[in-house]
Amino acid sequence: MISEADVVDWFYEAASELLEESVGMGTMEKIVDRVSLECRRQVLERLVQDAANREELLCPQCEQALNVEEYSRARRVNSSFGLIRFTRNYGSCNACEQYVYPADVTLGLQGRAPASPRVQEICALTALRAPAGQAQEDVRRMTGIDLDPSTLHREARRQGERALALRDADVERSQTLDGVFDLAARAITPSTPFTLVIEIDAWNIRERDNWGLTKKLRNAGEDTGRWHWVYTATTFRLDQRGTTATGRPVIAERGYVATRRGLDDFRAQLYTETIQRGLLQAEEILILADGAVWIWNIADDRFKGATQRVDMYHVREHLWNLANELFGRGSQKAKAWVTPFLNWLKRRKDGALDVIEGLEGLRTTMDQFRAAQQETIEREIGYFTEHKDRMDYKNGKALGQPVGSGAIESTCSQYQRRFKLPGQFWSLAGDEAFLALATLHRNDRWNRLFPHDGP
Ligand SMILES: [Zn+2]
Repeated sequence: MISEADVVDWFYEAASELLEESVGMGTMEKIVDRVSLECRRQVLERLVQDAANREELLCPQCEQALNVEEYSRARRVNSSFGLIRFTRNYGSCNACEQYVYPADVTLGLQGRAPASPRVQEICALTALRAPAGQAQEDVRRMTGIDLDPSTLHREARRQGERALALRDADVERSQTLDGVFDLAARAITPSTPFTLVIEIDAWNIRERDNWGLTKKLRNAGEDTGRWHWVYTATTFRLDQRGTTATGRPVIAERGYVATRRGLDDFRAQLYTETIQRGLLQAEEILILADGAVWIWNIADDRFKGATQRVDMYHVREHLWNLANELFGRGSQKAKAWVTPFLNWLKRRKDGALDVIEGLEGLRTTMDQFRAAQQETIEREIGYFTEHKDRMDYKNGKALGQPVGSGAIESTCSQYQRRFKLPGQFWSLAGDEAFLALATLHRNDRWNRLFPHDGP
């Protein structure tokens, strides 16, 4: 029996032989990694073969005995230590009408995918951070694995498709009462009453539908780039909002939704996500957003009884723009005019009514304004009248609630940093899969794709 110390001695000798004098520790780390790599690869290969040998020929779905199709069929897998080979048995299930390799299922290997679960995970993680070409370099530096960009991209896409399937299955669950209870059971909620905050916004993504036709279309004078909305939301419990030691706002745990499949899908996904974050247990629901009509339609339709609030900073901007248009951009007069309006909004209960009254007061002196300015005044009276019940800022502040939608704005800009790189085009199917993957990661459900990541 050899001891661990013998193994250590062997590695030490092997590494020392390769080591030149006066090299840095980084080089030592790489050499130790290299001399142990083949050992790790062989150990993994044997463990995989042992597991395949232990596997009984039973159907993973119905657990009935399989009809043997072939014994010891070979498979190759790219592992995080390099290529490994093993053999396993292959059978068919009469009841499920399918051919299966039970060992592959137990090992977590997917049908035609050549990558091991760890390599799948590495591809998925790095693709979320950087485009495939750059990701390849990072993977090589960190793990020593050489994956060509197309393998990396293909594998990441495959993981995106899996994330999409998980997400769609959850949305499907939200359609039945039993399913809703299953989803609600995933929510981690306090025993005391709490408020669930939902913030909604949208940003756009550029895509090209006509791969290959681009040049022809461009020559014909047609625009080949298209913009699509990505509907985005974040949700969190009010009691999970806090600040760091340096005063930066943080939210301990939050849910995310991002889709470009349109508003109906967005509404269903948002409902599904909020259930998993405590929608059914919450005492109060607060929805924050800018003034966009589609958002309030979703709020009325899916979250009846929720408190609705228009982002205060957008509302302030409306007042400032009006002041600048009426009295000159940046003028003293504009500032003097707008100040009381801003104060009413922030400090008074029903301040929005005071704002409307103030704006309506402008009508008595309408002849001092040009036609375009008069139109703006009427438009703003309409805006404040429509949203007046969504401007309870004084009360919101007193309850410790957010009055701005900063959380969703920073969420959108984080997504955009990855999905809106210059010159980047995405196909519809492709980036919905990447969006689903990025969102699953943000939602802290990585282990649903990669069980080895732990509970
Ligand atoms: Zn079966």
